[in-house]
Amino acid sequence: MAYDADVIVIGAGLAGLTATAELVDAGRKVILLDQEPEQSLGGQAFWSLGGLFLVDSPEQRRLRIRDSHALALQDWMGTAAFDRPEDHWPRRWAEAYVDFAAGEKRAWLHRQGIRFFPVVGWAERGGYDATGHGNSVPRFHITWGTGPGVLAPFLRRVRAGVARGLVQLRFRHRVTGLARSAGAVDTVTGEILEPSAEPRGRAGGRAVVGAFELRAQAVIVTSGGIGGNHRLVRAHWPERLGSPPERMVSGVPAHVDGKMLGVAEEAGARLINRDRMWHYTEGIHNWSPIWENHGIRILPGPSSLWLDARGRRLPVPLFPGFDTLGTLEHIMRTGYHYTWFVLDRKIIGKEFALSGSEQNPDLTGKSVRDVIGRARADVPAPVKAFMDHGVDFVVEKDLGALVRGMNALSGEPLIDEAELRREIVARDREILNPFTKDLQVTAIRGARRFLGDRLVRTAAPHRILDPAAGPLIAVRLNILTRKTLGGLETDLSSRVLTEGGDPLAGVYAAGEAAGFGGGGVHGYRALEGTFLGGCLFSGRTAGRAAARAVG
Ligand SMILES: Cc1cc2nc3c(=O)[nH]c(=O)nc-3n(C[C@H](O)[C@H](O)[C@H](O)COP(=O)(O)OP(=O)(O)OC[C@H]3O[C@@H](n4cnc5c(N)ncnc54)[C@H](O)[C@@H]3O)c2cc1C
Repeated sequence: MAYDADVIVIGAGLAGLTATAELVDAGRKVILLDQEPEQSLGGQAFWSLGGLFLVDSPEQRRLRIRDSHALALQDWMGTAAFDRPEDHWPRRWAEAYVDFAAGEKRAWLHRQGIRFFPVVGWAERGGYDATGHGNSVPRFHITWGTGPGVLAPFLRRVRAGVARGLVQLRFRHRVTGLARSAGAVDTVTGEILEPSAEPRGRAGGRAVVGAFELRAQAVIVTSGGIGGNHRLVRAHWPERLGSPPERMVSGVPAHVDGKMLGVAEEAGARLINRDRMWHYTEGIHNWSPIWENHGIRILPGPSSLWLDARGRRLPVPLFPGFDTLGTLEHIMRTGYHYTWFVLDRKIIGKEFALSGSEQNPDLTGKSVRDVIGRARADVPAPVKAFMDHGVDFVVEKDLGALVRGMNALSGEPLIDEAELRREIVARDREILNPFTKDLQVTAIRGARRFLGDRLVRTAAPHRILDPAAGPLIAVRLNILTRKTLGGLETDLSSRVLTEGGDPLAGVYAAGEAAGFGGGGVHGYRALEGTFLGGCLFSGRTAGRAAARAVG
């Protein structure tokens, strides 16, 4: 039987596009399949903030950040905490990925036209010791143009492949089976879904209007994770994080449904680390949702007071932006699925960034004027829109009214005004001294020694109850599903492995479907900005390896 292409790529997100672009460079014929319509081309990356983990970059050096390969590897290993036999390939991918991030990554992207916002962000600050979780230094480089800016060169390369007759794009093709003949997987079967005119990100109808069967010498699975499928998230929820939250918001579109992982498993692939996931604890309901149950993640600076549902401060070092999963673990022990930030106008104006390309029109639109406008604004417009319309926000002049609003919003009288006042007044007393026993205050002062934070991310220390800093703001924070850290086990050539450890002949995987490399390059936790980069690195590896194999 003749082949329809050299390689079939399943999933046209960043990983699939990167793999396809590499195959085109090698002159291979590719069919790129996606269950979504053409307008959703690019998958999650389009919505992303475009933050990329780079090590010892010129942007860091300009801000006097001293980074190195050794420091980054120390941070990665302390964060990943690999401890399972199946961490063999993830660990090797982690080493290779840190080499990439400290080596050719920036130059490779730069050659393709990608540029970065000059202020490097400091995500996941840890708060433990030097060998524990977290970034010792800022490494989150926001792409100029955010997610669409990351996608642009790869879309360009794939479209050039279409023009050269090397690539066929087939949308509304949902893969439901992988089959083999003569030893290797070479057949992809599935359903053709009804056409959809829904705008990008919104789920189209799922009515089946046909079937397809395609053959190629190799198949690359780049179908993404499970974050849009809360049933699967709950089914694999790790015991160490308690029972799954009663309610969650969705940080990804519905196409992140994880079903293709099951299809690959049925064909003989080994799925590992399914209980490792990366969900955020600062999710807010999007007041103008694109997909169902759409949540937006706040990327917080360090100053907001973080309270549990009963109004108690979260323990050290669970400050905003320090340890996502440590915070999640703590929250799940409180018996409630939500927490609160309590802050003021001064803090929200400087410290709230919202993740997502559409929440950052200045950076996405590459407008220097608008970026300057944001820095000058009292409160940036997208954040102000949430203050005005967001269901999770309470904005009041005095603490009594704020507490009444918080209790009305949760529908439970859990916050006691006197207790909360005592907590804030105590914190405010600590802020008056340049040194203090309150480690969050120490962290705020430490952050401001980094020029980037001082300029755009950390408000000058002040009393939260100072009327000049008001009004007061409370934000109810929900658990927001996002990334899948486990996935299809792959070796360093992105070949998918079977339960026995041998390659599943003909099958490769990359991106979130492969746990961003190896079946879980992050281990238990992430340093951030590592997901898009993981798609680029593993997508490139898979594309190059498949191109060699079918040559
Ligand atoms: C709002 C937001 C902000 C983010 N910000 C950042 C950031 O700043 N930095 C960072 O590193 N990461 C970020 N991420 C994460 C990152 O964008 C994703 O992890 C990454 O884009 C995943 O790419 P992927 O190609 O692996 O999968 P996806 O983008 O999910 O693409 C998979 C594709 O496969 C298709 N598919 C699935 N199943 C099938 C099937 N059975 N048949 C056919 N097609 C199928 C889907 O329709 C989809 O188009 C963010 C994500 C979001 C949503």
